[in-house]
Amino acid sequence: MALIVQKFGGTSVGTVERIEQVADKVKKFREAGNDLVIVLSAMSGETNRLIDLAKQISDQPLPRELDVIVSTGEQVTIGLLAMALNKRGVPAVSYTGSQVRILTDSSHTKARILKIDDQKIRADLKEGRVVVVAGFQGVDENGNITTLGRGGSDTTGVALAAALKADECQIYTDVDGVYTTDPRVVAKAQRLEKITFEEMLEMASLGSKVLQIRAVEFAGKYNVPLRVLHSFKEGPGTLITIDEEESMEQPIISGIAFNRDEAKLTIRGVPDTPGVAFKILGPISAANIEVDMIVQNVAHDNTTDFTFTVHRNDYQAAHDVLENTSREIGAREVVGDTNIAKVSIVGVGMRSHAGVASRMFESLAKENINILMISTSEIKVSVVIEEKYLELAVRSLHTAFDLDAPARQGE
Ligand code: ADP
Ligand code: ASP
Ligand code: MG
Repeated sequence: MALIVQKFGGTSVGTVERIEQVADKVKKFREAGNDLVIVLSAMSGETNRLIDLAKQISDQPLPRELDVIVSTGEQVTIGLLAMALNKRGVPAVSYTGSQVRILTDSSHTKARILKIDDQKIRADLKEGRVVVVAGFQGVDENGNITTLGRGGSDTTGVALAAALKADECQIYTDVDGVYTTDPRVVAKAQRLEKITFEEMLEMASLGSKVLQIRAVEFAGKYNVPLRVLHSFKEGPGTLITIDEEESMEQPIISGIAFNRDEAKLTIRGVPDTPGVAFKILGPISAANIEVDMIVQNVAHDNTTDFTFTVHRNDYQAAHDVLENTSREIGAREVVGDTNIAKVSIVGVGMRSHAGVASRMFESLAKENINILMISTSEIKVSVVIEEKYLELAVRSLHTAFDLDAPARQGE
């Protein structure tokens, strides 16, 4: 008898019919003798709709109230699934985050889970009930509803699996596993049998939204066996593992991630004195803006150009801060660009192979794609390019690193 946590994403519970289908599936797992905790997202589109409602009242909704509003989406789906299960003769009970007591800190809209009280769930499981928990939400120590950031139901699933020491956490979604890159962008993307936590963490943080970053962090930290599967198609999915296989077959690159969420800012003609980076980035950090990539050019005529990227949502705020800094330190000008994209190749195989970055640059050069910024770490290389070349870049890198699926007959 296994204890399994199963999380179903928005499209998998997007309609009443789908919820009935999920109930059929859960029933089968239950009849096979498993103890089950089900974590649900809101119906697809619902969280966006709720955010939009809040924005009609205020451009900058109060975070506490926004959490009260957006957490309702999950409350609807859990009630519906619990009803659908009971209708099938499968005893089930639904709980919101505060009812389970998923205790979080008080950072509304991006709260972190601190503790999960598993007593109620364990008691229900013992009584033979399927427990259906609302994803994405928790409660702080003062009883305020919190949410865990977009895509946060994945994290609820993994955190519950860790707290209950479940045998496996299964993330059911609208693709049948983790692919070499987003299969919606590259038709030749291939499903991976396995991917290491380390690689998955890079992929997630570099833009692959198939799993929320925090969920992967949690799973790695607490060693939760994690699998991504299709909600309604049979198949082995993708296992996220700790072990790096030492096989000859191991590809150098496991996957390609990309995102369109960043913007680039450059401050030109900065007097080149010690402390330049701090003078520029200190006020940015004081404004609570996170910086991703940074490039400082070699000084020329005693001045330098300094470029960095921030989330697009922070672009205007960062621009304003930089204009101020520019006046204070006597720089020449501030320029910005929001039409950029970041493409990254990820793979633990990079540690033992040379020339990976140059192969990436060669492939982009062949397509005449200009690289605006570069950053590397042990298992990834990222480049910033013009957004209009994003899909071309991802497709050509996918081919250059031998990731394309073999052509099926007739293709
Ligand atoms: P859910 O609502 O089930 O949480 P998401 O939309 O959050 O689903 O995540 C699934 C989507 O992630 C897929 O539809 C796919 O377009 C996208 N995706 C991005 N990168 C990848 C990847 N490397 N492998 C699989 N899917 C990916
Ligand atoms: N419903 C939330 C969102 O859309 C959480 C989730 O689906 O994981 O972000
Ligand atoms: Mg998701």
